[in-house]
Amino acid sequence: MDLGALVSNKHVFITGASGGLGAHFARLYASCGAVVTVAARNAGKLAELVAELQAKGGRAHAVSLDVTSEESVAQAFAAAEAAQGPVDVVVNNAGISRPALAMDLSAADFDEVVNTNLRGAWLVCAEAGRRWRDAEHGGVIVNIASITGYRVAQAILPYAASKAAVIHMTKALALEWARHGIRVNALAPGYILTDLNRDFFETEPGKAMIRRVPMRRLGKEADLDGAILLLSTDASSWMTGEVITVDGGHLESP
Ligand code: NDP
Repeated sequence: MDLGALVSNKHVFITGASGGLGAHFARLYASCGAVVTVAARNAGKLAELVAELQAKGGRAHAVSLDVTSEESVAQAFAAAEAAQGPVDVVVNNAGISRPALAMDLSAADFDEVVNTNLRGAWLVCAEAGRRWRDAEHGGVIVNIASITGYRVAQAILPYAASKAAVIHMTKALALEWARHGIRVNALAPGYILTDLNRDFFETEPGKAMIRRVPMRRLGKEADLDGAILLLSTDASSWMTGEVITVDGGHLESP
């Protein structure tokens, strides 16, 4: 089965597409012949990405999106559909982290992380879900969670708790929305090297964490390709409410 061929001509809406994983997913889908909408706040980075994809013959369009704003989420979907037709797949990937030990963590940072990673992810799901229900269209959501959503780690409390909640949300929405032909699954990556964590993996605790990965390396963005294509295509047509972990094997104890 050619997973890439199954997303050909599908309209894929990717949040956080100005960042490492989101831009990688956009390149992957575009290379498979999908119609791609890239969404984030950084318009400059999105414009560069769209130019790159179009230069390679891809069909891509950028929309401005702040996932913390309900109005922005609604406008982004309206703009994406006006430009490129109904969305078929949402990759709910925008996310932030504000690492700090729990005693040092500010309430403002806690709120910002949860507001982006959980409330923002929910706003995106809700907008897509309502549109698909009203159009009787059906659709597929892939929420980007994290292994920290179900394995405890230090100094990332709001990040990990928000990812745990994203996993719960994935299962809850799958249950509610199956009747509308909407599937909701999650991808839980292990440690993939991107701008989000580059500094951390230069530190001693970061290097120690790499040594505890059974495959003894950080993930590459491309390590996620098989799982995300599986979840976003009809190859997984009877899967919903599931989480696929891609992490080089379970971490060994310190
Ligand atoms: P990056 O920091 O490279 O990218 C994060 C993206 O999120 C950016 O495009 C940023 O865009 C976007 N974003 C942040 N806040 C908002 C907002 N309010 N509205 C819209 N977009 C927003 O991180 P990664 O690519 O590494 O991470 C992508 C996802 O993968 C995240 O959800 C992360 O938790 C998850 N993940 C990453 C892992 C890793 O090891 N890298 C491991 C497991 C999960 P902009 O600032 O332009 O708005």
